[in-house]
Amino acid sequence: MKNNEIPAYAGIKNYINGEFINPESNQWIDNYNPSNGEVYGQIPNSSKEDVEQAFQSAKSAFPSWSQTTLEERSRILIKISELLEANLDRFAEAESKDNGKPVSLAKMVDIPRAASNFRFFGNAITQFASESHESVGQNAVNYTLRQPIGVVGCISPWNLPLYLFTWKIAPAIAAGNCVVAKPSEVTPMTAYLLGEICSEAGLPKGVLNIVHGLGTTTGQAIVEHPNIKAISFTGGTATGAHIAKVAAPMFKKLSLELGGKNPNIIFADCDYDDMLNTTVRSSFANQGQICLCGSRIFVEETIYEKFKADFVEKVKSLKVGHPSEIDTNIGALVSKPHLEKVKSYIKIAKEEGATILCGGNEVTVEGYENGYYLQPTVIEVKTDDCRVNQEEIFGPVVTIMPFKTEDDVLEMANKVKYGLSATLWTNNLKRTMRMSNQLQAGIVWVNTWMMRDLRTPFGGVKASGVGREGGFEALRFFTEAKNVCIKY
Ligand code: NAD
Repeated sequence: MKNNEIPAYAGIKNYINGEFINPESNQWIDNYNPSNGEVYGQIPNSSKEDVEQAFQSAKSAFPSWSQTTLEERSRILIKISELLEANLDRFAEAESKDNGKPVSLAKMVDIPRAASNFRFFGNAITQFASESHESVGQNAVNYTLRQPIGVVGCISPWNLPLYLFTWKIAPAIAAGNCVVAKPSEVTPMTAYLLGEICSEAGLPKGVLNIVHGLGTTTGQAIVEHPNIKAISFTGGTATGAHIAKVAAPMFKKLSLELGGKNPNIIFADCDYDDMLNTTVRSSFANQGQICLCGSRIFVEETIYEKFKADFVEKVKSLKVGHPSEIDTNIGALVSKPHLEKVKSYIKIAKEEGATILCGGNEVTVEGYENGYYLQPTVIEVKTDDCRVNQEEIFGPVVTIMPFKTEDDVLEMANKVKYGLSATLWTNNLKRTMRMSNQLQAGIVWVNTWMMRDLRTPFGGVKASGVGREGGFEALRFFTEAKNVCIKY
């Protein structure tokens, strides 16, 4: 890469046909640094015309890219992965500055995972085989072609910016599609830097086009575009429902990865210390802004009081601080409006008669007084059907309550509109099997959390989404199956 520093005042441009260009409308949006509340750059608010330009660039690149050999596509994806690893520090610092997450987390998780996404799909595409079926007794053979769709749209959220952006782009281009992609307007920086890396890795012009802007203008223009044939979206449930409505009359292929309100179910027979440490992480990693965070903690009543005391003590010891400080556990929330939303739920909890066991207040970090910092907050709820236990808060806030029986907790765990993930802590094998079968979730973790193998299907049920990402599921989404039947 040419520059080693993130410019102090970062002007971001669209990446179309391998070039960095200004938006046609010349409309710009301020980009905030959540650690100090200051504007540190601007991004285009791209219009329909910019999206059309990105589409035309993708369309022109498609005939050649879709015919590029799998080995060549694989080589380029792996090269992108290597360049991301070589630029780890720069990307991690940019991610942290844009999002408010600790730099240490971005260095350990976000950027390595973005690199893994490219490496994984660079390898997976070479193993993605077609099926064939001999129609015995009919003198016929069927084989299934998996053909790229054409130009596809990828739209991603702000919580794991590069991690989720690349989780879509890598399989899309591996499968031979060309892409019009939009990162969140709140965290555009690493997507912008990715453009440079892709050019350097030799990705042909037009295969990946990145347009920046608001969801309601740029995102909407991607979804409304009649010739962008598939949309892979990660974000809020309400946005997902809106996208589904807009896309339906055009029969677009849709993958929707949406919100969650995930149960973390703790039985007395678990490995206690492991459970306690992991539960702190699954509650507050990334300021609790991970769709997979276990935001509803249910504890078997026999260990409830002990757990409550131990958990609260550990949570109180977490350090809220500037994202670049090495001992910071909890950085800044992503934006002022999001901080206000999370705070409003703490108010709702009080109105609902719940008890704030710790946290609940903003934190002033010396030297960064206008940053968006909030104490990690534990709310003891009286019933499972209160709003703080039913609605996605998406911040450093968890609820806890006791349960008596397996049936009781199963019913409460499933009694939300979401169904993304669930975590179960127990050493009882039969219970593990019974509950894993019945939990309404796309992912069940037992005695662990957030352990990911990129070959496995990822996604949710109910209001948490439609479709699966990961492994061959993603490659299936980004291809159309065509069966050919030959009689001989
Ligand atoms: P969001 O829905 O507000 O925005 C997500 C993306 O969609 C952004 O790029 C935004 O600009 C765009 N967008 C908004 N309106 C649009 C429209 N009308 N048309 C097209 N695009 C539009 O979500 P967010 O606040 O950025 O992210 C937080 C949400 O994402 C949470 O609900 C969280 O649970 C969810 N999430 C889910 C997963 C998952 O894998 N299931 C992962 C991460 C985050």
